[in-house]
Amino acid sequence: MRRGPKPVSQEQAFEEAAGAGLEPCEPYPGRVIDPWMHRCMTCHMKLNVPLTRIRGGKKCSHWSFERLLGYRRDILKAGFELVGSTPVALHEEVRMRCVTCKKEVWQSVAQTRRRPCTCARDELFVQEMRDAGLEPKVPFPGTSRAPWPSVCTECGQDRKTSLDTVRSGKRCKHGETWPRRR
Ligand SMILES: [Zn+2]
Ligand SMILES: [Zn+2]
Ligand SMILES: [Zn+2]
Repeated sequence: MRRGPKPVSQEQAFEEAAGAGLEPCEPYPGRVIDPWMHRCMTCHMKLNVPLTRIRGGKKCSHWSFERLLGYRRDILKAGFELVGSTPVALHEEVRMRCVTCKKEVWQSVAQTRRRPCTCARDELFVQEMRDAGLEPKVPFPGTSRAPWPSVCTECGQDRKTSLDTVRSGKRCKHGETWPRRR
């Protein structure tokens, strides 16, 4: 009686290879640790991989290409473009640029999925100010509590009303400290 791992039939070995997306180029060599030549069914690249490594989850390297392409797609979908190299891991921080405002940031694909560029949000804040009759003179100061220099579209007076103040309902009291233009 033979000891050690149970022998594998040709048929069974071919089935296991097929399950991993591999097409054997030669008969199963007989032992799970023996080199065994395959062709990837997806990209047709040749790879030499014994059955024991197929069982261990060894896959053709085109899988990692697909992952990289997936990262690139995620980055584009979030409104960024890569400035440098493509990240090879989900949490690797890389340089990317917002396609809308051209601001460059260092962040990972994981962060990008959660956090699009702030310019999309800032545009909404600018709209809130305009709805309240104030035209911002500078970009959003970064916090809704900070004074945000603007001009009243009604009386033309400079204002430094914060977004919080606008949200609380306060509006420009036209001409209170400045003669009203009419
Ligand atoms: Zn492949
Ligand atoms: Zn942006
Ligand atoms: Zn006013």
